[in-house]
Amino acid sequence: MSKDGLRKLKPATQLIHGGTTRSTFGEMSEALFLTQSFAYPTMEAAEARFKGDDPGFIYSRFSNPTVAMFEQRMILLEGAEAARATASGMAAVTASLLAQVKAGDHVVAARALFGSCLYVVEDLLPRLGVASTLVDGADLAQWKAAVRPETRLFFLESPTNPGLEVYDLKAIADIAHDAGARFVVDNVFATPLLQKPFELGADVVVYSATKHIDGQGRCLGGIILSSQAIIEESIHNFLRQTGPAMSPFNAWVMLKGLETLPLRVGQQTASAGRIADFLAEQTGVTKVLYPFRPDHPQAELARRQMSGGGTLVSFVMESKEQAFKLANALQIIKISNNLGDAKSLMTHPATTTHQRLTPEARATLGITDGMLRLSVGLEDVEDLIEDLAEGLAASRR
Ligand SMILES: *Cc1c(COP(=O)(O)O)cnc(C)c1O
Repeated sequence: MSKDGLRKLKPATQLIHGGTTRSTFGEMSEALFLTQSFAYPTMEAAEARFKGDDPGFIYSRFSNPTVAMFEQRMILLEGAEAARATASGMAAVTASLLAQVKAGDHVVAARALFGSCLYVVEDLLPRLGVASTLVDGADLAQWKAAVRPETRLFFLESPTNPGLEVYDLKAIADIAHDAGARFVVDNVFATPLLQKPFELGADVVVYSATKHIDGQGRCLGGIILSSQAIIEESIHNFLRQTGPAMSPFNAWVMLKGLETLPLRVGQQTASAGRIADFLAEQTGVTKVLYPFRPDHPQAELARRQMSGGGTLVSFVMESKEQAFKLANALQIIKISNNLGDAKSLMTHPATTTHQRLTPEARATLGITDGMLRLSVGLEDVEDLIEDLAEGLAASRR
């Protein structure tokens, strides 16, 4: 099917057929081209390929047929013009920021960032002469006030980790563009299905494919999506020369993951909504954070810019002791800091992913000692609720 034909189809269909190129064998499952390099029929052919006159493959550090299939499928889903896959989500975040700035530039980011993203913005960029300002992402006045003449990028995640705060992407995009800056969105928590950052004004969208895109806890991967112009101007060359390439094997796993993404995210989101409602009624649970619950502080905004509440639920127990007792008593839900897996996973952010922060910094982000984050998997939701009920009973003993 032609690219234009595929663009008109619904996501579930695009994710089965999009981006597929077949070898002369006509294989049905996407071929795994586990190769480093490619042979040219003649020296003239090699010359043409290096000059860019022939679009064929050269070297898998920057282009590979299996990786290209994954990129094309993601381009269709996201409605982007171009994409580059990377070795991990952090490779995607780091490259998308570093490739677009130079010493003397300035970056504004929401303070509530995935721990390693916070390191890149708060430590790494300033060490290279790129100043950064962290703001409360929900406060539009702070985004405006942070702008300087040399501001090049705005960066955020929404919903955030682990507080599941929701930021107004459209309003923040407008502030960025008025300032002549580009807007980079890490869309991992929303997934490519539940939130469309390009439609809300994003210039660059990044994912950790490790999460929902793989969806079964196997491979690391990441991807950067944007206009052709941004990829060609900075991102392609940065990745080509510095080398955080996605393995063809991992790209093949991600392609298979994409085929079931709508089924998985749909089921996990439905279960997450039910679990959030269940938790909200339990004694010992002082707060539930879920974007589509009416008691979420940005519930109205969440329903405006997302088509589902997502697969994560955060909630607060009275103390660290109660949170630990609950998690330690779980039989089905595993203790792990990963997310987006078919297996339900629970983590205690204050002592794991956000341990590096000072208690004050954690308090600013609302990460209390009683907070737990649950990534809802594909188990039967009744079994998950029963597991949580037993965990809650144990926390009271
Ligand atoms: C996991 C994650 C990353 C980093 O991805 P890796 O694949 O682990 O490198 C970045 N941002 C968010 C929001 C994430 O959840």
